[in-house]
Amino acid sequence: MPIQGKILYDWPNAGIEEPLVLSAPDQLGTEPYDVTIVGAGVVGCAIAYNLSQYQLRVLLVEKRYDVGEGTSKGNSAIIHTGFDSTPGSLESHLVTQASHKWPDLAQKLKIPFEPSGALLLAIDGEQEGKLEKIHEKALTNGVDDVRLVDAAEAKHLEPNASSEVRGGLLIPRESIADPFTTSIAYAEVAMANGVDILLGAHIVGLENCQSTVKNLVTESGHRIATRLLVNTAGLGGRDLADLYHGAPFDINPRRGQFLIFDKFCRSIVRRILLPVPTAKTKGVLVIPTVFGNLLAGPTAEDFPLGSPEATSTTAEGLRWMLSSASGLCPCLMKQPVIGVYAGERCNCKQGSYLIRYNDGYPGILTIAGIRSTGFTSSIALAEYVTEGLGEQCDLSLDRDPDAVDSRPDSCWPGWWRKPIDDAGVVKKNPDYADMVCFCEQISRGEIIDALDSMLKPRTLDALKRRTRVSMGRCQGFECRVRVAKIVSEHCDIPLDNITQKGPGSELIAPAHEAIYG
Ligand SMILES: Cc1cc2nc3c(=O)[nH]c(=O)nc-3n(C[C@H](O)[C@H](O)[C@H](O)COP(=O)(O)OP(=O)(O)OC[C@H]3O[C@@H](n4cnc5c(N)ncnc54)[C@H](O)[C@@H]3O)c2cc1C
Repeated sequence: MPIQGKILYDWPNAGIEEPLVLSAPDQLGTEPYDVTIVGAGVVGCAIAYNLSQYQLRVLLVEKRYDVGEGTSKGNSAIIHTGFDSTPGSLESHLVTQASHKWPDLAQKLKIPFEPSGALLLAIDGEQEGKLEKIHEKALTNGVDDVRLVDAAEAKHLEPNASSEVRGGLLIPRESIADPFTTSIAYAEVAMANGVDILLGAHIVGLENCQSTVKNLVTESGHRIATRLLVNTAGLGGRDLADLYHGAPFDINPRRGQFLIFDKFCRSIVRRILLPVPTAKTKGVLVIPTVFGNLLAGPTAEDFPLGSPEATSTTAEGLRWMLSSASGLCPCLMKQPVIGVYAGERCNCKQGSYLIRYNDGYPGILTIAGIRSTGFTSSIALAEYVTEGLGEQCDLSLDRDPDAVDSRPDSCWPGWWRKPIDDAGVVKKNPDYADMVCFCEQISRGEIIDALDSMLKPRTLDALKRRTRVSMGRCQGFECRVRVAKIVSEHCDIPLDNITQKGPGSELIAPAHEAIYG
C-alpha cells in the first residue's frame, strides 16, 4: 500500500486538532512536489485522482475549507451523454467518453448514481420542428441509443407531462449522480495513494516562474515548491493565470438558479425532463435527484466576474423557473419548494474547455472554461490532461503498481446505505439509532463517521455534503446546533470556533453558547 497523503488546513486559530493545522513549511516535506494542482473542485480532484495512479509527488491546494465547494457544489447533477454538445469539439469528445465510464466509476468510488434517462419534450409546433435536427446531432455525437417518440408515447412515458406535448426525444443513458460525493471520493482515493491536500490556502503569489522549480505563495505567507503547476481554479482561474502571465481568457460567470421540491414530489416524473433548447440556453429542466428530491432549473444570467449577486437567488428568477418547469409538467405549480440555490458557470468568451500547456512559462497548465459539463467530463478530462502533461511538460508517467482506484464499501454515504435499517449494525453502534436530522434521518453515528473520514471535514457545510444533515425540509432549523455540539465534543473544538464554511462564518457567538450550553 502507498503511504497515505496528508490533509492539512491553512487555518490558524481554528481550534482544530493541531496535527491538521499547517504551521511549519516542513509539514509538506522538504522535496518539491512534481505537480501542484490549484483548485479542488471536481476537475482538480479528478486530476489528483488520476495522477495518484502514477509514481509522483502531488499536492492539491484549495482556498476554501473543503473540496468541491465552488461551482462543483451548485449544479444540476446530471451525467450527460453529450447528445447535444457541439459535434467535433473537445467537450463533446470528453463528455461522450466520460458518460460511458460513469456507471463503473460510480461503483468504484461509491458515488450514488441512477441511470434515470431523460425525455426532451416539444410543447408547440415550432419546437416539434426542431426535434429531427436534435436527433441528428445526437447521432453525430455518437449517442446512437436515442430515439424520437410521438405525443402518445411521450405521455405514456411521462404521464404528468403537459397535455400540450407534441413529441419528444428519448435519451436512455442520461443519468443523475451525487455531485458532492464525487469530489470527495476522487480526493480520498488520491490521498490514499499519497497525494497531500491543503485546504484554506489561497494562492496569491508565484515566484521563480521561469525555473524548473517554482514557488507558490499562500495568502498566509507559506511557500510551496513545485515542478509543475496545474490551474484548475475555475472562477479564480484568471487571477491565478495573471500571476504567470497566462494567455488571455475572460471569465463571465453565468448564474444558474434552482428550486428544490419536497421529496414526495419525486414520483411526479420518472426521468429528467428537458425542454427544446434555445440558442443561448438549454432552458429550465425538471430533474430528479439521487437524494430523492426534484429540482427545477437552472436560469442562465450573466454577471461580471466577482459580482456578489452571482450566487444569490432572486424572487423573479424563481418565479420564472416555476412557470417554465410547469410548462413541461403543470402539476409542479402547486408543489412545495423546500429550498433554493444558485451556482456560477465558468463561462469564457474564448470558448469552452480551454487547455493550455506551458502557458506563460514551461511547466504551467491552465484549464479554463469548464462551463456546463465538468461534473460529467471530469474523469475523461483528467485522463486527457494527464497524458498531455506527459507529452507536453515531460512529466514521467510510471504507473504505481500499488495504487488503488476505488474506495471500500464502507464509504457509501450513510444516507444511501441507511445504517438505521440494519439491526445488526445498530446493535454494534447505537449511535446509528440516535437521530440528529429528522428530515433526512441522519444519525449521530453517520456524523461521527464523516468527522473521522479521510479529509477530516470540520465545517458544517462539509458535513452537510457528506451526510445530508440539515439538507431536508427544515433546512437545519432543528439540528444545526446539535450538529455543532457533536463536532465540538468529538473533535475537542470550542463551540464558538465551529463554523458553517470556514473563518468568518462562526455559528454560535459566545452569548449564544451560554444559552445552548
Ligand atoms: C447552474 C449549473 C448547472 C450545471 N449542471 C451540470 C450538470 O448537470 N452536469 C455537469 O456535468 N456539469 C454541470 N455544471 C458544470 C459543472 O458544475 C462545472 O463544470 C464544474 O463543477 C467545474 O468544476 P471546476 O473544478 O472547474 O470548478 P470549481 O468547482 O469552481 O473549482 C475551482 C476551485 O478553485 C478554488 N480556487 C480558486 N482560486 C484559487 C486560488 N487562487 N487558490 C486556491 N484555490 C482556488 C475555488 O475555491 C474552487 O473550489 C453545471 C454548472 C452550473 C453552475
